[in-house]
Formats: sequence, C-alpha cells, structure tokens
Amino acid sequence: MELFKNIYIDGTLSDLIVDHDCVVALAAAGTLRGDEGAVHDCRGRYYALPAMVNMHTHSAMIGMRSAGSGLPLQRWLHEVIFPLEAKLQPDDIYDGVKEACNEMRAGGTLAFNDMYFCIDRALQAAHDAGMEGSIALSVTDRDFDTDGELSKLLDTFDHLYANGSQGITVTIAPHSIYAVSGKHLQYLADFTHERQLPYHIHISETRTEREDCLRQHGVAPVVYLDRLGVLDKTATRFIGAHALWLDDTEIALLGERHCNVVHCPNSNLKLGSGCRFRYVELRDAGVNVTLGTDGCASSDNLDMVEAMKVMSLLQKGTREDPSVLPAREVFDVASTNGWHALGLPHHGLQQGDKARFFLVDLSRPVFNGVTAPTLSADQRHTLLLDRLVYAAHADSIRDPRHLDTNHTTDTTL
Ligand SMILES: [Zn+2]
Repeated sequence: MELFKNIYIDGTLSDLIVDHDCVVALAAAGTLRGDEGAVHDCRGRYYALPAMVNMHTHSAMIGMRSAGSGLPLQRWLHEVIFPLEAKLQPDDIYDGVKEACNEMRAGGTLAFNDMYFCIDRALQAAHDAGMEGSIALSVTDRDFDTDGELSKLLDTFDHLYANGSQGITVTIAPHSIYAVSGKHLQYLADFTHERQLPYHIHISETRTEREDCLRQHGVAPVVYLDRLGVLDKTATRFIGAHALWLDDTEIALLGERHCNVVHCPNSNLKLGSGCRFRYVELRDAGVNVTLGTDGCASSDNLDMVEAMKVMSLLQKGTREDPSVLPAREVFDVASTNGWHALGLPHHGLQQGDKARFFLVDLSRPVFNGVTAPTLSADQRHTLLLDRLVYAAHADSIRDPRHLDTNHTTDTTL
C-alpha cells in the first residue's frame, strides 16, 4: 500500500491511497492514514493527473530519430526508412522499445498503441518497462502466402496471443490500404473480429493516398474500407492512424460505428502531409478522437505534452477560433479517449481505477500561481492544464515510482 499525502488532485490538496495497483481511497489532505506501506509526503509540490496514452507509434524507431528530415512520405519510406529497417535485429527491437517506453513513462505516458515487427521482443520490452497498451504486428501483402493466409506468421502470433502479457494486447495490423490488398484487409478484419482485437491501420495520411484510392477504387479511403465490410466488423476496435484527408461522408461513416482515429500532428507537419485534421467534425460525429506522436523518425520524440500543444494550436489557427480545443479538452483526448480506445476505460485517478497517473512538478516556474488560495478548485485545474499544455514541457513531469519515501509507516497524521 502507498499513501500520497498533500498532493493536488482536481485542484484540491488531497490524500491518495494506492493498493494492489488500484486507487482505493481519495480524500481531502490530512484525512487518510497510512498504517502500513510507503508514505510519500508531497507537501503540495506535485499535482497528479491521469496518465496519457500514445495512440500511434512505432516505438522501435527511436534509433532513427530525425532520419531523412525534409523528404515527403513515400521517398522518406523507400529511400531512408525501409533500408534502415532491413538492418534491424531482434535485440535492436528490444532495446529500442525499452528506450521508447522509458521516454514515454518519463513524460506521463503509461500506455501506447504500437505497430511494427518482431513483436515478441517489443512485448517483452514493454512488459519490462511496465507499460500497457496494444502491440500490433504490421503486415503488408508480402507477408501473405500464395493461399492468401498468414501461416508463416501465425505460429509466433498464436504463441504470443495465448501467453499474453498483463495489460498488453497483441494484434495483427494491416499497414495501410496502399500496402495491403482489399482481400487481405478483409482477412485481417475477420481475424481481429474473431479474437476481439484492435484493427490498427494507417488511413488517409496524405493527399496522394486519397487521390490514388479515388483513382484505383473510385471512392475515398474510408468509403473503400466500408465497402469491404471492414468498418462494420471492427467498429469500436477500429483505430485509424492519421485520418487527415477526410470528407464529410467518411467522417459520418466513422462516427456511425464509433470508430477511433489518432491525430499525429507533429508527424503530419514534419512530413508535409498537411494540417487538415477535422477535430470538431469528427468529435461531433461520434468518433473517439485520440492523440499520438507516431514514430521518432517522423516526430523526433515521444512527447505527448508537445503533441497536445501542437494539436490544440493547429485547431485554433486553422479554424481561426481561439475557443476551439482548450487545454482541458485536449488533455482528455490525450488521456481518457486513449484509454477508452484501448478498451481500458477505468485507468486513472478515480476511486476504483487502476492507478495510472503522473505528477506535475509545481516547483517549476511555469506553474507559479497555479495553486493560489484565491482560486476555486475548478479554476486551479483549468490553469494547471493551460500551463501544462501551452507553457511546460515533458521535463516538468515526475514518475510517482521515483518519489522518495519519507518513512515506511506513518502514524503522525
Ligand atoms: Zn505510423
């Protein structure tokens, strides 16, 4: 059992007890006792927030930070990324995912939705780093045999699926509509549907992808997936990464099935893919909008605080409306909506939740005045999130696992 004393939660100085990985008690400061276990007296220095979820990344690409800067997506993939990936060994995957998980944890992200290869090594690394989420084996048409099946890969997959790892789902993800045929997109929709697994796919990332799809199939990418029956089969387990170039019909189709999409603003900007993410329309249509960084080769870091700032500013700027996507809302996109998309809604800081939270260090100058006694709890919470999203960086975040313990038992409250 762990007692966190004098910690800010929802704008109020509070005490929090975590037992067996769950939030078991939450009350005003000075009211809870820690009769056994560790006691951390935060002395009003830390503000706890529910952990964020990086909903689209290729974490093992951390070793390719900034690779191919300046190239557009297809040239970047073929001239730089694929040749680098061809040299990767399983141990590189383990080391890369471990390093990425540590970077995410240090920045308040405790779950991630990954897509790559060698997922047995990725799974081990994520498990060792104490992360949750979903790790998908990315496949293209080259991975299917002549019978249109994935028999070569399924042995490994079934072994991983059967053994699993607590808090981490393994799945198989079609890379994109341009790398996987319609028949195989359907095969994977059936495969994930039978096992109730996420269907994670890159969709509508660039203008070129959309125009190619219109030319080849006569319809836009999301309509194409709908005609293949993919949206009906996957629905709330559909996780569309990027979803940047959508028209009204596509947004309505995603909304009807309550699908998930992942905005990756930094990656989209760096690769020159555009700044057309239609947040308001997607949200209002019933789509669960989440946030991701993408891999480090296109986003250069895994900093969800930075991603929140860029997402919020892009919406305000492109819509010419400063009231759109305030800090409180973009924080929900980065945290609550991500947990929901992964099917793990009760992870956070509410009583009964799995305890998944991070600490904001209020001793940093950017947080001056946030806990002023003249403010209401709600005003403090709003101001804290404004400062976190627009003024701070991930280096203002602390991992509660690394707090000093004042003493092992405490009866002095
Ligand atoms: Zn990606």
